[in-house]
Amino acid sequence: MSAFNAIGEKREIDRDEFTPGVEPQPTWCPGCGDFGVLKSLKQALPEVGKTPEEVLTVTGIGCSGKLNSYLDTYGFHTIHGRSLPVARAAKLANPELEVIAAGGDGDGYGIGGNHFIHTARENHDMTYIVFNNEIFGLTKGQTSPTSPKGHKSKTQPSGSAKTPLRPLSMSLNAGASYVARTAAVNPNQAKEIIKEAIEHDGFAHVDFLTQCPTWNKDARQYVPYIDVQESDDYDFDHTNREEAAEMMRETEDVLNEGTVLTGRYYVDEDRPSYQQEKQAVGEMPDQPLAERYFDD
Ligand code: SF4
Repeated sequence: MSAFNAIGEKREIDRDEFTPGVEPQPTWCPGCGDFGVLKSLKQALPEVGKTPEEVLTVTGIGCSGKLNSYLDTYGFHTIHGRSLPVARAAKLANPELEVIAAGGDGDGYGIGGNHFIHTARENHDMTYIVFNNEIFGLTKGQTSPTSPKGHKSKTQPSGSAKTPLRPLSMSLNAGASYVARTAAVNPNQAKEIIKEAIEHDGFAHVDFLTQCPTWNKDARQYVPYIDVQESDDYDFDHTNREEAAEMMRETEDVLNEGTVLTGRYYVDEDRPSYQQEKQAVGEMPDQPLAERYFDD
């Protein structure tokens, strides 16, 4: 894939450009699904024509938070559950930047759940990847907001009595304009979903199922998947909010005969992003805020 350099020359982008030269190799456990997210990003970014200096990756706390140590873009490793407000601020200050926020299910759906709702509601232009392994991994396997009912952990030794959160329905209902689910066991689909999310104008939420072989050995992240777009059994219009909501209601948190459903659930290409809304009423100039600040 090609891009233009700072003086307007066209040049080829190689995925190796996104591998840091001086950072250590990932310290994730062997077989961790987080490797799948990293690989998808390294494949997707050059294919959509992005260079490392055009991208900011903002992460929260957790095993997933190490992502921006292993991906050679601008990076900001923020505090627990706060990747989205940092990502929003960066995007507003420099709309030219391709902003990718990331975190785990505990970080994003639990600690930062309020930010998740409101960033979707306001449709901020960014990609939000949630590494969903249905537990808190870094802190040794505690029950998370997406742990299935009955899941046993150190914090719920007799099995969780809590109904798991439904993240796709949550972001759709809050107002996200792109909602998808993919899985580390499904690298080809994952790359395509990440590419779509990056190219989408507005809040693109990707629930990325990532297996944690160390603390969650029996999770659905290991099972085969069905792509909702490719299967004749799941015929719905992914540009229709009501049909997408109904599909999520039926399929989001269930294993259908031993499979899990993934794919693009909802896309709204018409809804303006937060920044576009502000520009339309003259409250935000086309010129990046960061440039205005340094010009004054
Ligand atoms: Fe991955 Fe789980 Fe190991 Fe964390 S503890 S690196 S989520 S396998």
